[in-house]
Amino acid sequence: MAHTCDDCEETFRTLTKLRLHDCPGPALTDPDHVSKIIEQTGEISQGDVVAAFPEQSVPTEEVEALEEADGIHTAMSLMSGSPGTGQTERIALQTPTAGAVIEYFPQRGWIAVRTVAGEDKTDDQLSGALMEQVQDWQSVVTDLALGHASGDVDAKQQLRDELGI
Ligand SMILES: [Zn+2]
Repeated sequence: MAHTCDDCEETFRTLTKLRLHDCPGPALTDPDHVSKIIEQTGEISQGDVVAAFPEQSVPTEEVEALEEADGIHTAMSLMSGSPGTGQTERIALQTPTAGAVIEYFPQRGWIAVRTVAGEDKTDDQLSGALMEQVQDWQSVVTDLALGHASGDVDAKQQLRDELGI
């Protein structure tokens, strides 16, 4: 009898294989998950962990699929972890009530680095405000990168210092 993982829905021939697999967790586009993402995007402040995202970088195709989900207005990959991997570590998110720029930090998970409240805004205003926050965060990242062009610096640690996390 096959054993199916409740989280990732992959099927295994034995229980041992199921227990030992390196589980990627539920797909971001799973409807339960999408509602968690929408809920959390509305509640998070800068520096908060977005628990609905996995503790790893995310494939860009999964972000593209998330954008098609009900209630998600924008889900946009803003960079690749390293070129050619197809993974992203920075995402802009827009729901009907809020926007956020989130970034993956190893050992921490996905953290809100910029947030926008949207209750008093139209979708267009919210989208505009989110894009300003995207540019603001990207300029912080670029400044750090330029300031340490010699390499040999932990950019993620610098970003954490910037956020005070
Ligand atoms: Zn699994």
